[in-house]
Amino acid sequence: MITRSISPTQPPRWATLLAEGVRDPSELLALLGLDAAQAPYPIDARSPFPLRVPHGFVDRMRRGDWHDPLLRQVLPLAREATPQAGFGLDPVGDGPSRRPGGILHKYHGRALMILTGACAIHCRYCFRRHFPYAEAHAARSRWLEALDYLHADPSIEEVILSGGDPLSLPDEKLAELTCALAEIPHLKRIRVHTRLPIVLPERVGASASSWLENRRFQWVVVVHSNHAQELDESVAEALLHMRHFGAVMLNQAVLLAGVNDTAAAQIALSERLFEAGVLPYYLHLLDRTQGTAHFEVEETRARQLMGEVAARLPGYLVPRLARETPSAPAKQVLAAC
Ligand SMILES: *Cc1c(COP(=O)(O)O)cnc(C)c1O
Ligand code: SF4
Repeated sequence: MITRSISPTQPPRWATLLAEGVRDPSELLALLGLDAAQAPYPIDARSPFPLRVPHGFVDRMRRGDWHDPLLRQVLPLAREATPQAGFGLDPVGDGPSRRPGGILHKYHGRALMILTGACAIHCRYCFRRHFPYAEAHAARSRWLEALDYLHADPSIEEVILSGGDPLSLPDEKLAELTCALAEIPHLKRIRVHTRLPIVLPERVGASASSWLENRRFQWVVVVHSNHAQELDESVAEALLHMRHFGAVMLNQAVLLAGVNDTAAAQIALSERLFEAGVLPYYLHLLDRTQGTAHFEVEETRARQLMGEVAARLPGYLVPRLARETPSAPAKQVLAAC
């Protein structure tokens, strides 16, 4: 009998799915039954921040709809290349917060660790689209520097694993990092900022969350979903799975014109998240990053919208409307009106 043995170096299925994501705008349009010649807005097939989206996420888009809220988040448009006044390369003021080994230390008690520049999806509005990841990401060789920094500052109680997307790293690496962090006595919490469970729920398998079981820490997972349509059954299962490992599950979203800038869209998102065991945390106003101006929602309109949402939902389903201000001691939370 011939048995096919699986070699230990074979990548897990999620890594294959991640690598096989759609990268060509014409392929994406063909999958959606859209004709590029009919595009209501010019597309940029050669953007320096190229298209990237997993097939499973494409499957959640509506066929034949140029205004689909998931499609709008990923399709590169020609107008991204037009400079807009007030939209810069480092809108959130990351520059002065950079520390050795890919750490951003901006706020008291918590430090953010950039583990990788890689993401499963490229979101057009991303404020890190111009970030110099090649210099900043913490490859294993740089972890030691980052760990030294964390060791040396006892005021840091929480480490935020971020990127890029930290879950684009293999579980072995995340487990290794978790063990190293466990040696730092003043650390209490690990927070993971990730969009992967939303865009590639296959990432969250049984073995996948083994490092999440490390009881030395309290775990917080902050996922990133902008629209209820992103949250199909497979995503809900992945989120509930992480919750059952004991992680507190929160969501952050970005308020995006043409994607989720209605009270109905926000209400549906909060309700759907809750069904999947996740509470809304932040709804971010767009960071004014070059190439993203067409997604901006005016602050006054945003606050009105939150007023409409707050009038309809229990308080725990209303996200905090927040703006990132360079050099402020915290994110600025804006009142609904
Ligand atoms: C947003 C952010 C945090 C986390 O802020 P919270 O208000 O605790 O969610 C931490 N560090 C940096 C650099 C950030 O941008
Ligand atoms: S997943 Fe997050 S970091 Fe990656 S492109 Fe999207 S918004 Fe940016």
